[in-house]
Amino acid sequence: MTYDSSNIFAKILRGEIPCHKVYEDSDAICFMDVMPQGPGHALIVPKAPSRNMLDADPAVLAKLLPLIQKITKASKAAFGADGITVMQFNEPAGGQTVFHLHYHVIPRFDGVPLKSHSGKMEDPAILAANAEKLRAALA
Ligand code: AMP
Repeated sequence: MTYDSSNIFAKILRGEIPCHKVYEDSDAICFMDVMPQGPGHALIVPKAPSRNMLDADPAVLAKLLPLIQKITKASKAAFGADGITVMQFNEPAGGQTVFHLHYHVIPRFDGVPLKSHSGKMEDPAILAANAEKLRAALA
């Protein structure tokens, strides 16, 4: 399978559609998932084009992991979480629905199950407030 630049995260990276942005540098962007599996669910997307981990440049992955750790720590602090789930899916059989590499960072709370994947659209005001909390924790 080859990379298709018409995917929704490529459009966000090109500024063609909006997102609730948390963080951006020359290599990656972080924004809120619009159908969160828990409050504060964020996505980390490298700018380099690849479908997923199967075709990603190892150098891109090596640069990304420290950012994933940074957002994971900020997320725990921002949302007072008991733990954090970091997830990543590869190809439809692996659960992937958007075909530009990304990592999910989801605050978790004792005894609270994850909501369904790509489930219900969140209120934009809540997404904006959660993006602000995460930005503040990163500052
Ligand atoms: P997956 O490819 O299965 O790892 O997940 C893609 C994720 O992207 C899902 O959790 C969706 O809720 C999320 N998503 C889809 N479209 C958007 C969008 N425009 N902005 C933010 N998140 C999105």
